[in-house]
Amino acid sequence: MSTVLALDQGTTSSRSLLFSREGVVKKLLQQEFTQHYRKPGWVEHDPEELWESQLATARGVLDGESDVACVGITNQRETTLVWERETGRAIHPAVVWQSRQSVSICEELRARGLTDLVRERTGLVIDAYFSGSKVRHILDAVPGAQARAEKGELCFGTVDSWLLWKLTGGRVHATEPSNASRTMLYDIHKGDWDDELLRELNIPRAMLPEVLPSSGLFGVTDAEVLGRALPITGVAGDQQAALFGQGCHSKGQAKSTYGTGCFLLMNTGREAKSSESGLLTTIAWQLGDEVSYALEGSVFVGGAVIQWMRDELGLISDAAESEALAASVEDTNGVYLVPAFTGLGAPHWNSEARGVITGLTRGAGRAHIVRAGLESIAYQVHDLVQCFKQDAGGELSELQVDGGASGNDFLMQFQADVLGVPVLRPECLEVTAFGAAALAGLGAGVWTDEAELASVTAEAARFSPDMSEERRQELLSGWDRAVTRASS
Ligand code: ADP
Repeated sequence: MSTVLALDQGTTSSRSLLFSREGVVKKLLQQEFTQHYRKPGWVEHDPEELWESQLATARGVLDGESDVACVGITNQRETTLVWERETGRAIHPAVVWQSRQSVSICEELRARGLTDLVRERTGLVIDAYFSGSKVRHILDAVPGAQARAEKGELCFGTVDSWLLWKLTGGRVHATEPSNASRTMLYDIHKGDWDDELLRELNIPRAMLPEVLPSSGLFGVTDAEVLGRALPITGVAGDQQAALFGQGCHSKGQAKSTYGTGCFLLMNTGREAKSSESGLLTTIAWQLGDEVSYALEGSVFVGGAVIQWMRDELGLISDAAESEALAASVEDTNGVYLVPAFTGLGAPHWNSEARGVITGLTRGAGRAHIVRAGLESIAYQVHDLVQCFKQDAGGELSELQVDGGASGNDFLMQFQADVLGVPVLRPECLEVTAFGAAALAGLGAGVWTDEAELASVTAEAARFSPDMSEERRQELLSGWDRAVTRASS
């Protein structure tokens, strides 16, 4: 038995991938599902459609395969479901992480002075992103739900729990620490649901899943559901799975995912580091009794700036074209683009900031602006990395990268140049799914230890810094000036 099935349940699609022992994707199926926007700012998924799309792709990938050892799950984080223990029927649509429907619940929690308690216990800021206020919203929205939850008739789960429940035919109601640490209900230091926060949100313990280690046996798939009985042996939220899939198993290692936004996570080892710069403290994973922690931060507008230059400005016709165009000029000719479309996150935290293009002269052209757009992604990641170094107290020796925009060689080289450390890109960019496969494969003995996995995730491309310190400082101070303009 040497292949591993990874279920990658994302925000817009459900995917199933079959990985070989060598870490190669043997098969991949993907199915999109509907996004529901019942009210402005609300985003919901149909729990049955989530499940059916995941099941269809899993069955398709398993078809004709006799060599599958185990199943791993990775998932969109924080998205919240509540279902009936008796029937497995969801009582409300899945409330998606981006959804703002529980904003007023969060405002009330802040007004009650719970900000410090939430940060101390959970490593998070009070925000509608996280599951706790979404559970409260569901229990308020559905008549009779609170009483039923108190009687133990309802189950709460993030998407991993929902899939575990469905896959095991309702036998397993569980989650693991990387997902639990995004609920705003989990004490990341004690490793247990927090009674005080549960009380504040009036969420009965009876509806919570059991928290198991991220790698190890969660349950066995129901043969009537999936077509065969397979052990489910690894689970992690998508960003943590990507960190694991990148081979960032040790303290100080970090990865950056360049998608629509950029997500950075740094492994801080056994220590839960608190942040001075507004980064989140989170659990990376738990192997046996050992919990690994991470710091997490994000850039709101990453690859999205490329989409904007394509769709709104018409400067390029596809994202990949940005690479050759940026490389066709020597520099941006003094142009900086700060894509603060929705404000600026860490370390600036200015929600009033808006985008600017600075340094325009008569000589500035399309290529300069596109180059400035690409460079803005690297500068924002640079600024975030400074926060990581400060909070984690150490240097970053290299950065692992993945995500759609990490395929852009110009961007990756510029990233290495402004960071002053090598940027490493793996051969297989499916690191999130591979992370789930790796956790599952470790749990089932397909791989014996993390060292063996390292040989599987060998780098394919290395971008070494190749810029003088003087030039680096000059560019960074230009960027800082542009950020100041965006902020005023
Ligand atoms: P997500 O998971 O957030 O949908 P992906 O990892 O699929 O994102 O990456 C898509 C993003 O990457 C888009 O914002 C797109 O503009 C950007 N992108 C894709 N290819 C390139 C490229 N070659 N150069 C720059 N940006 C790119």
